[in-house]
Amino acid sequence: MHRYDFLVVGGGPIGCRVAYKLAAAGHQVAVLEKNSSVGGPVCCTGIVSRECISRFGIPPGLILKEFRSAIFYPPSAESLRVERPDMQAAVLDRGGYNAFMAREAQDQGADYFMAHRVTSVQAEPDRVVVTTENRGTSLIFEARAAVLATGFSSRLPEQAGFGRPKRRAVGAQVEVRALTIEEVEVYLGNDIAPGFFGWAVPTGNSNALVGLLTEHEADKHLAKLVSVLESRGKISCLAGKPSYRGVTLSAPKKTYYARIILAGDAAGQVKPLTGGGIYFGLLCADMAASVLHAAMGASDFSSAYLSSYQKEWKKVLGGELCLGAWASRLYGRLGDRSIDRAADAARKRGMADRLSVSSGIGFDWHGSAILQIVRELLRRRYKPLNKVPSDNSEEVESNGR
Ligand SMILES: Cc1cc2nc3c(=O)[nH]c(=O)nc-3n(C[C@H](O)[C@H](O)[C@H](O)COP(=O)(O)OP(=O)(O)OC[C@H]3O[C@@H](n4cnc5c(N)ncnc54)[C@H](O)[C@@H]3O)c2cc1C
Repeated sequence: MHRYDFLVVGGGPIGCRVAYKLAAAGHQVAVLEKNSSVGGPVCCTGIVSRECISRFGIPPGLILKEFRSAIFYPPSAESLRVERPDMQAAVLDRGGYNAFMAREAQDQGADYFMAHRVTSVQAEPDRVVVTTENRGTSLIFEARAAVLATGFSSRLPEQAGFGRPKRRAVGAQVEVRALTIEEVEVYLGNDIAPGFFGWAVPTGNSNALVGLLTEHEADKHLAKLVSVLESRGKISCLAGKPSYRGVTLSAPKKTYYARIILAGDAAGQVKPLTGGGIYFGLLCADMAASVLHAAMGASDFSSAYLSSYQKEWKKVLGGELCLGAWASRLYGRLGDRSIDRAADAARKRGMADRLSVSSGIGFDWHGSAILQIVRELLRRRYKPLNKVPSDNSEEVESNGR
C-alpha cells in the first residue's frame, strides 16, 4: 500500500502540471501513468500560442519553429492568408515537452509510477483508493484526493461516475518530408475534413506534421490530404506512420466529485474549434492544484468544497468554449460551396487583413474573432437604416443573392 496526499492519474502535460504545482506547494504527490515512459511519440501537433509559452515558461530548446502567419485553403476558392508582425504561435517538440514537464514535477518531489495502469478509483468518506495494474500485479494507492488527467480515451472518468463528453472527434496525423511548407497551412472542405479542417505544420527540419480532425474515416481522409499535398508538390513522402487519437470537444457536466477532480482533455478543457487542449488544460491544471491545496488546508474534500474548481475554470473558459462550440457546429453544417463563398467574401471585404491587425484576437481566444466575423456578416446583410438605398436592387446585390 502506498500513501500520498494526492494522486494524479495520467502523466500527460496536464497531469504533470497538476503534480508540479501540488508538489511545489509541499504536498506528497504520486503520478500514475500506464505507459512505461513519458516523452515518447505523441499523436499531437504541439502548436501552442506565444501567450502559453510565456505564461508557462516553455524553454526555447523545446520550440521547433515559430509562426506569425497561417494560410487557409478553401475547397476551390483562392487561399486566404492571415499574418501578424510578430510571432503568434510555435510548434513544440511534443514528446520532449512531456518529458520536461515530468522532470519539473519530479524536481519538486513528485513520485512517478510508470507502467501503472489505473483500473479503479474509489472515493471513500475519508480518502480515495486507487488500484493500479503493473505487469500483472495489483497495487493499492491511497490519498486525500485524486486528479484524473487521463486524456480522451480512458474509461476511468466514466467508471468514477463522470459523464462522457458528448462531442468528440478523431485526430489523425503523420510526419512527412516537406518540400514547400513554410507556414501553418489549414485545409478546409468536406472532402478533406468534413466539419473540421486539415493542417500541415512545418517542424523546421525539412519535415512537417500533416493532420486533420474528423468524426469518421480518419484514415481515409488523412490519405486524401496527403495525396492532395503530394499532387501540389508540397510534400515528397511520408516520414513516419499515421497515428490516431480521440479529441474531446465538449466538457462533461461535472468535473468534480468528493475527492476526485478531472483536468485537461478528460474534463473537456479543449478549444472546440481546433481541438487544441494544451493551453486551456494547463490553465485549469493550476486552478485544480490551487483548489486542492486550499481543500487540504480546510481539511474539506467534499463535493461542495471542490465545486469552486468548476466555477473558477468555467469563469475563465466557459464563454470561449460556448462560442467555440457554437461556431464549430455552424461551420460543420456548411457545404463546400458555402465555405468557398465565405472565403471569397472575407477576401473581398478585407476581413483577413482586419483580423490580422485586430489586437483583441489571439491564437487561443477565438471568442472575439467569432464575434467579429459575425458582426462583419451582419454588417454585410443588414446595412444601417440611413444607408439603405431607396432602390433595393443594390441591397439585393450586397446580400449576395
Ligand atoms: C492529432 C492531434 C493534434 C493535436 N494538436 C494539438 C496542438 O497542436 N495544440 C494543442 O494545444 N493541442 C493539440 N492536441 C490536443 C492535445 O494533444 C491534448 O489537448 C493534450 O495532450 C491534453 O493533455 P492531457 O494531459 O489532458 O491528456 P493526454 O496528453 O492524453 O495524457 C493523458 C495521459 O494519461 C494516461 N492514462 C490514460 N488512462 C490511464 C490509466 N487508466 N492509468 C494510468 N494512466 C492513464 C495516458 O497514457 C496519457 O499519458 C492535438 C490532439 C490530436 C489528437
